[in-house]
Amino acid sequence: MSDETELLIVGAGPAGMSAAVAARRMGLRVIVLDENSEPGGQIYRRILGNEERDARRRLLGTDYARGLPLARAFVASGADIRAGSTVVEISDDGSASIASPGRGAYVVKPRATLIATGANERAFAVPGWTLPGVMTAGAAQTLLKTSGQIPAGRVVLAGGGPLLWLVASQLGAAGAELGAVLSYTRPLEYLHGAGDAVAAWRSFAALAKGARWIASLRSRGVKLVHGAQVLRIEEREGKRVVHYQAGDRTATEPADIVLLHAGVVPNIQASQSLRLEHVWSDTQFCWRPATDLWATSSNPNILVAGDGAGISGAEDAARGGELAALGLAAKLGRITTGERDRLASPIFAQRRTQEGLRVFLDTLYAPPHWLRVPSDDATIVCRCEQVSAGAIREAVRLGADGPNQVKAFVRAGMGPCQGRMCAQTVAAVIARERGLPCSQVPTQRVRPPLKPLHLADLADMPPGPGEEIEAVPALTVSSLKSLDDSTAAGPQSH
Ligand SMILES: Cc1cc2nc3c(=O)[nH]c(=O)nc-3n(C[C@H](O)[C@H](O)[C@H](O)COP(=O)(O)OP(=O)(O)OC[C@H]3O[C@@H](n4cnc5c(N)ncnc54)[C@H](O)[C@@H]3O)c2cc1C
Repeated sequence: MSDETELLIVGAGPAGMSAAVAARRMGLRVIVLDENSEPGGQIYRRILGNEERDARRRLLGTDYARGLPLARAFVASGADIRAGSTVVEISDDGSASIASPGRGAYVVKPRATLIATGANERAFAVPGWTLPGVMTAGAAQTLLKTSGQIPAGRVVLAGGGPLLWLVASQLGAAGAELGAVLSYTRPLEYLHGAGDAVAAWRSFAALAKGARWIASLRSRGVKLVHGAQVLRIEEREGKRVVHYQAGDRTATEPADIVLLHAGVVPNIQASQSLRLEHVWSDTQFCWRPATDLWATSSNPNILVAGDGAGISGAEDAARGGELAALGLAAKLGRITTGERDRLASPIFAQRRTQEGLRVFLDTLYAPPHWLRVPSDDATIVCRCEQVSAGAIREAVRLGADGPNQVKAFVRAGMGPCQGRMCAQTVAAVIARERGLPCSQVPTQRVRPPLKPLHLADLADMPPGPGEEIEAVPALTVSSLKSLDDSTAAGPQSH
C-alpha cells in the first residue's frame, strides 16, 4: 500500500508541528508521522494529554505550557496526522517506508520530505554509566512529562547544559529528593561567559530563566558543585556512589538514582542514511546536515529542520519548520517568492535576536574533553554491543581508520541503536587515537532500518523506489517438467 502527498513530515515536535500548520495555511497536502502516540516531540511531550493536569503543567514550566497553542493549531490544521508511525527508511526521492501498528507497513511518496526528528542526548561515557540506577536526565524528564513519575530516593544529577538545570528544577518542584547537582561548568566559565551574555542581551528572559532554575535549587538546599568532573560511578551496598573531582578536591556523592546529561546533539540517523552533506560544528562538537535558508538539504527532495538540523532550541525549531514550509510552498508555486520572503522576514529577524544566546549557551556548556573521550580503557562506549574504549583504541592501532572499520573490527555501533547513542564517542576516541580533529574522522554509514521494526512489518514492506523485485514465476510440477524438456535439448546434466 502506498500514499501520495505534497509534504511528508517526519517528527511532530515544534519543527514538524509548525511546518504542518504553515504548509496547511498555504493549502499544501501534508502527512505527518511520529513514532509517539501523541504530538509534541521532546519539549512538548504529552502536552495535549496534560491539558487537564494543571499541577503537572505548572511544574513543567512556562516553556512547556507554550506548546499548547501550537499543538492545538497542529491538530486543527487539517494535516493527516499519523501518530504511532515509525519511519524506518527514507529514499533519495523522499519516499518513506513506515511501520505502524495501526496500518502495518507501507510507503508514502511525497513531493518533498521534511526530516524533523529532533535531537538525542549526548552520550556520557564514564566508568559506571551503564549501571542500573544510572540514566539520562532527559529520560527522567520523559517519565515526568508522560506519567508524572519522579525517581525514588536520593537523586544526584551530573553534567551540564540548560536541560540539566531545567530537569533538576522540575524534579525539585515535583517533590523529588535532590541530593546534589554536579555541574561540569567551572565558575570562571560563567565569568568568561558574561561577555557572550551581554551580547545575548536580547535574550535576557532566557538568561534569567537559567538563573531562576539554579536559584530554585539553592533555595531547596540542594548541594551545587560547579566545575565537577565525574571520575566514575560505583555500585556499593545497593546504592550508587558518584566519584568526582572539583578543582584539586575529590569527593563522593551517594545516590539511589544518578541522572546524567551533557547536552543534546542532532539526531542525524535519517540524514546520514541518505548520504546528505553534513558539516562539523566546532562549537557544538557534532555533525549536522548542511541546509539552506529554507531548510533544503544537499538533496532537493529532502528538507531538514529543528534540532535535527543543528541544536537551536524549541522556539527556533518552530521557526525552522515554518521556513521549510514557506520555501516548499514557493517551490510548488503556491505562493510567489516575493510572498515567501515577505512572510519569512520577521522569522529571520527573530532568529537574529537569538544568535547571541546560542553562542553564549554553546560556549558555557561546551562538553569537556574528559566526557567526550573516555580516558579509561575499560569504559563501555557502545552499550548495545558492550564495546569498550580500549577495544576501539586497539582496533585503531590495528589499522581501523574510522567508525565503519571499527564497527567491522569490534562491532561498535552494530546494535539496536545503530550508533545513535555511541557514534560521537566512537568518533572522538578514533580522532584522539589518530591525532586528528573530529571533523576529519569519517562519519559512520547508516543503513535502514532507522529504528528497530517487527520482521512481519519488514516482510510486508512494499519495495521502495528502485527496490522492485522482478516476480519469479512460481515453480509448479508442470514448469519443472517443462524445464526437463527444455534441458533435454541441450547437453545432459546428471
Ligand atoms: C530527552 C530530551 C528532552 C528535552 N526536553 C526539553 C525541554 O524540556 N525543554 C527544552 O527547551 N528543550 C528540550 N529538549 C531539546 C529539544 O530538542 C528541543 O527543545 C525541541 O524539542 C526540538 O524540536 P524538534 O521539533 O526539532 O524535535 P523533537 O521535539 O525532538 O521532535 C522530533 C520527533 O520526531 C520523532 N521521531 C524521531 N525519529 C523518528 C522516526 N524515525 N519515525 C517517526 N518519528 C520519529 C521523535 O520521537 C519526536 O517526537 C529536549 C531534548 C531531549 C533529547
